[in-house]
Amino acid sequence: MEKNFNKTFYITTPIYYVNDIPHVGHAYTTIIADSITRFKKLLGSDVFFLTGTDEHGQKVEKSAAEKGLKPIELADQVVGRFKDLWKALNISYDYFIRTTEPFHEKGAQKIFQKLRDKEDIYKGIYKGWYCVSDENFLPEDVPLEEEDHKICPDCGKRAEIVSEECYFFKLSAYQDRLLDFYAQNSTFVRPPSRMNEVISFVRQGLKDLSITRTTVRWGIPVPDDPDHTIYVWFDALHNYLTGIGYDWNMERFERFWPATIHLIGKDILRFHAIYWPAFLMAAEFPLPQIVFGHGWWLKDETKMSKSKGNVLDPHVILETFGPDPLRYFLLREIPIGLDGNFSHEGFVHRVNSDLANDLGNLIQRTLTMIQNYFNGKIDEIDEENKRDEILRQGFKSLKEKVFQFYEDYAINRALEEIWAYINSVNKYLADNEPWKLAKDSTQRKRLGRVLFQATAAIRAISYFISPVMPESSAKIWDYLGEEKPIQEKMFSELKFEDFKLEQKIKKPRPLFPRVVLQDFLKEEATPPAQPKMEEKMEYVTFDEFKRMNLRVGEILNAEKVEGTDKLVKLEVDIGTEKRTMVAGVADVYSPDELVGKKIMVIVNLKPAVIRGIESQGMLLAAEVEGKATIPFFPEDVPTGARVL
Ligand SMILES: [Zn+2]
Repeated sequence: MEKNFNKTFYITTPIYYVNDIPHVGHAYTTIIADSITRFKKLLGSDVFFLTGTDEHGQKVEKSAAEKGLKPIELADQVVGRFKDLWKALNISYDYFIRTTEPFHEKGAQKIFQKLRDKEDIYKGIYKGWYCVSDENFLPEDVPLEEEDHKICPDCGKRAEIVSEECYFFKLSAYQDRLLDFYAQNSTFVRPPSRMNEVISFVRQGLKDLSITRTTVRWGIPVPDDPDHTIYVWFDALHNYLTGIGYDWNMERFERFWPATIHLIGKDILRFHAIYWPAFLMAAEFPLPQIVFGHGWWLKDETKMSKSKGNVLDPHVILETFGPDPLRYFLLREIPIGLDGNFSHEGFVHRVNSDLANDLGNLIQRTLTMIQNYFNGKIDEIDEENKRDEILRQGFKSLKEKVFQFYEDYAINRALEEIWAYINSVNKYLADNEPWKLAKDSTQRKRLGRVLFQATAAIRAISYFISPVMPESSAKIWDYLGEEKPIQEKMFSELKFEDFKLEQKIKKPRPLFPRVVLQDFLKEEATPPAQPKMEEKMEYVTFDEFKRMNLRVGEILNAEKVEGTDKLVKLEVDIGTEKRTMVAGVADVYSPDELVGKKIMVIVNLKPAVIRGIESQGMLLAAEVEGKATIPFFPEDVPTGARVL
């Protein structure tokens, strides 16, 4: 089965574990995959983009039990949250696989059976240090701590000795074949530094891998030996086969397998670059072309994870900005292989500088001038002179670079080049001063030419950014009077000359409003609210008002939230219970002066996670020039009293 990588393109994200909550880290991987998918479609490739969820295993079983749910009920809830997030981010996946789907379970069992028949899987006894939290036996080389126990190197929790009958995969038999494969496919793992890590790991020697459990019930049963369930990782990796049809839509499976690129976080490199190709060799499937290990988005210099409580919930950003600024920021800020540190300052800077100033202003003023000076339709232009040519020439070289960088998965470099071009268009307008030309009626053709060149350039820009910012580019495309959707224009056919004289331009609306950092932080500190009403008084009925549960709360504790100027974490007694709340008042009040004070609290506001802290309510304060003034109740007002 030989595959032409240029014709079909199969891209995957890892399947996300349903014991997690969707955060910026998941969004990052999925946005990369989506942008690459959109770019490949512009090239006319036959693309399949697979994402989904990993739903089996001990941790899911435990978490579900803690919540009083069946594992599948927990999975259903989390799947809903992931799908909502992908919708909000404009993710255009072709299939969302769940490892609890019957066709996946059947497919994984079939492969297990095949490997057992050829004795790549055999039964034995495994005794070793086991991390319950990670569902993983620790590597042998983890040293013993004092008191003769071992600590899991991944999560830092104490491991237990576990001895069990289980099935092993004969990984040791694949060491040489893997090394041969890496030697012949030196770009299999990217970036290259990670290829070296993988090779040196394999050279140290591979041990057979235990791939079943008798202690876990929430898993796929081993065929004909149902006391054993298949190890969650063995199960999960096979989603890449079953998700495109292995064993249930073989026509599609043959069309897309092997995968062109598995996008993964660098923490799961070993599974994808060593175990997975060995499983595939054993099952006699062709191997994927690339495993790309991307870096992590750090918050306060540490990896975001639920257990560390520092995850960044993308919903607040999405509700304020829509999908494109976040998509742009994550892909522009760092190359795909490196780590990045997420800061609100950095995000707001990108939105204001790159999106609002450079791109947004360019479009707004150019198209507005066409409205004002030509009634929306440029109808006469003079000959293109040397200065005008710059934009057309710039387009040609930009097109080549953008192609090359997207092809190399260097999306940040493609965006850098596009922004350099945006700035050259801004410079062109500044040099040619169309607003001055407009004052002289003899210059009408010259004015037409200047606006025509700039608009042709804007059209190209909107096309080139479309894989990363599909929503904004579609709007720009529409303002330009393009009739067909952007994705129907093939990359190879895109020309500067496509923009035609007398094309009817629509009146633009600002695409990327500027953001004030303080307002944004306040937005983050306030649980997501209804969209702001624009200066229109909306009445609520008394019954609606009564739904707000407002009470007198007493502040028991207050401390500043590290790494922020404004946020303070409060422990508040509301009469019936104590609540944790985060408020944006630390720039006005010191924690010490808040303790003991009685405040007005809305206690039935939907909880929101702010800087990793769940805020279970909100204190009310007046806003005066961006600063909070809190109304305090006299001491003799009882804590918990209802405010009406
Ligand atoms: Zn662990």
